Amino acid sequence: MSLLIYAESVEGKFKKVAFELASYAKKVAESLGTSVTAVTVNAGDVSELSKYGVDKVLKVTNDKLKNFNAKAYADVIKQAAQKENAKVILLSSTTDSLYLAPIVAVGLDAGFASNVVGLPLSTSPFQVKRNSFSNKAFTITEIESDVKVLGLAKNSYGVFESASSTSQEDFSPSLNDADFNVKVESVDRTTGKVTIADADIVVSGGRGLKGPENWGMIEELASVLGAATACSKPVSDLGWRPHSEHVGQTGKPVATNLYIAVGISGAIQHIAGINSSKVKVVINSDAEAPFFKVADYGVVGDAFDIVPRLTQKLKEF
Ligand code: FAD
Repeated sequence: MSLLIYAESVEGKFKKVAFELASYAKKVAESLGTSVTAVTVNAGDVSELSKYGVDKVLKVTNDKLKNFNAKAYADVIKQAAQKENAKVILLSSTTDSLYLAPIVAVGLDAGFASNVVGLPLSTSPFQVKRNSFSNKAFTITEIESDVKVLGLAKNSYGVFESASSTSQEDFSPSLNDADFNVKVESVDRTTGKVTIADADIVVSGGRGLKGPENWGMIEELASVLGAATACSKPVSDLGWRPHSEHVGQTGKPVATNLYIAVGISGAIQHIAGINSSKVKVVINSDAEAPFFKVADYGVVGDAFDIVPRLTQKLKEF
């Protein structure tokens, strides 16, 4: 019996969530008295995983899997779990893994808990704590099935180094041709920009910025901090920013270490999507703006004055 993680990579490089998942898996494996195996798909240097306690890597290298394919990737994870006799399979909460986890669970006749935060409360019975109701409440979920699939909430555990001697094995799962009937030929990624999903820091702008022509200062602040840019729903509805930047209940969820909201009122639907972020900084000219109620740090002031000064100060560090 082992514990299996799917260590996600993009263009051959592991995502940060892979290291967070490995760190988490190491602790869960200790409580189960087992080891951690990672399955990777077209990842480059898998030895990086040894820093985070992974004991064994099943390395899948296949050109057919160059671009994400939910059915085929889920099949790879399923076959890896069966090969290792894994009873607990861990995935993260990226867009891809959120897609994969239920398919893997169905394939393995496993119980599935998404949005898991913290280590299992008990392993017999197997109980986990989950973020629920747009992160406004926790639920305790008990999984009774023999095989369990867990989705770890993003940025909920942290990355911890714990060296292991990691063995590597090439793994060639059988792929089903029917899964490639519809295939992605290529993916054009915007280069040089941090995406919301991978960001440690997000700088987000709202209608208080008055118009798209004023986004330069948001981008500059984001660039100094190595952050991704985001926006409120009306901003993307108005076409000031692309829909991919819309965060909140009906947009992308954000669980970063630092979320800076500029000229955003803090409507409940916005907060619902960002309240898992660790530190929230709010810049708003209205001291009564609801966002201040959930802020860790707040600046009451004009964004057009505060943001350039903040950027300048950060540049001086
Ligand atoms: P506003 O509410 O107009 O707020 C602008 C803020 O900027 C104000 O607080 C103002 O004081 C401040 N401001 C103005 N000038 C300055 C200045 N010079 N400097 C600093 N601050 C300034 N919204 C989302 O964001 N995400 C969602 O996913 C989402 N989903 C929704 C789903 C439903 C079903 C519904 C009904 C609504 C949803 N909304 C969502 C919309 C949400 O209710 C709010 O309308 C929206 O979040 C407001 O956006 P805003 O804060 O940018 O704009």
